[in-house]
Amino acid sequence: MKCPYCNDEMEKGLIQSNHEIAWLPGEKKKALTRADFYQGAVVLSELSFLKSSAVTAYICKKCEKVIIDFSDGNSDFNRR
Ligand SMILES: [Zn+2]
Repeated sequence: MKCPYCNDEMEKGLIQSNHEIAWLPGEKKKALTRADFYQGAVVLSELSFLKSSAVTAYICKKCEKVIIDFSDGNSDFNRR
């Protein structure tokens, strides 16, 4: 994947957590992290107590940007 800022090739990796990984709307940190409490939230990796959660992510260390492409669901390790 090309970085949309500098057009260099981004490095493939992952973001892993022992909790659900979700994008939540708004600008303030939430008391509850589960996406189903918030309208418009997007679950990027569903929680699995056995496998934790992880999502494929691309990084550009020069621009200090990370991209998660969740368009096809394959970015979620727990959906594979
Ligand atoms: Zn870049």
